[in-house]
Amino acid sequence: MVVTGGAGFLGSHLCDALIARGDSVVCVDDLSTGSADNVTELLGRHSFELLVSDVSVSLEVDGPVDAVLHFASAASPPDYLARPLETLAVGSEGTRRALSLAGAHGARFVLASTSEIYGDPEVHPQTERYWGNVNSVGPRSVYDEAKRFAEALTMAWHRALDADVGIVRIFNTYGPRLRPGDGRVVSNFLTQALSGRPLTVYGDGTQTRSLCFVSDEVAGILALLDSSITGPVNIGNPDEYTMLELARIVLQVTGSSSEIVHAPLPVDDPTRRRPDITLARRELGWEPVVALQDGLRRTADFFSAP
Ligand code: UDP
Repeated sequence: MVVTGGAGFLGSHLCDALIARGDSVVCVDDLSTGSADNVTELLGRHSFELLVSDVSVSLEVDGPVDAVLHFASAASPPDYLARPLETLAVGSEGTRRALSLAGAHGARFVLASTSEIYGDPEVHPQTERYWGNVNSVGPRSVYDEAKRFAEALTMAWHRALDADVGIVRIFNTYGPRLRPGDGRVVSNFLTQALSGRPLTVYGDGTQTRSLCFVSDEVAGILALLDSSITGPVNIGNPDEYTMLELARIVLQVTGSSSEIVHAPLPVDDPTRRRPDITLARRELGWEPVVALQDGLRRTADFFSAP
């Protein structure tokens, strides 16, 4: 198996799960937002290899390849806003290289797509049939349109070359190995609560997200990998919270007495987001099992560990 972005937050959990079930993994990562620390426990294994390379520039892997999982990309809004051209490159040229690698080996290709495909959605909850509402010239478009292009490229390969592909639309995911400073809401709220600093709710906090614990997300991705389904398939947790509710739950879970303050809402911040997972339930027999409070506790333990 080849996992691009395998040293990132989600990619490294995916590598763990693949190695645990007996697969061999080549992890390709340029370590721009990922870190070798995320895969240190795997580095000693003969079935695991880390190749430090930017997949938008080169992706060369020797030996047999059964599947290519393309997970390389900045994913946190502050990260992709700081790397606009790199984000567009990894979604376009990186995806083309990953598809070529899969094609050369007759391997299945799995694209890590995103709920950002739906932009600021007018249909709620979002089903895979909804085409989305994305501002193609706004700052977030570097991520949203890169992923939309990656989906288009993947489907073109599928149609033109009969390539075996699967597209997973990943909704907000959290858990251990989130970078404390990555700017995403769970990293921010937990690190703020644990250090007694104010929790920064952007805007009035009425915008919603539906948060999936990383072990659930990985189980859904593996189910798609092991199937022959093309998708796209939403994989996320449909439990929806406003960001103000999330801030209060984080305070409860951590026992913190931090205050809640408001800060400006980022440009084009989606007002609501919740996956319809009917397709994943029916076709993959998958649904999330970790409750938000449990997942937040486990993530808080990771942030508190020395
Ligand atoms: N958010 C917030 N405070 C923070 C970070 C994020 O209120 O410190 C909000 C953000 O405006 C968005 C939601 O939390 O509405 C999720 O943001 P995140 O960056 O985690 O991911 P997104 O879903 O926007 O890609």
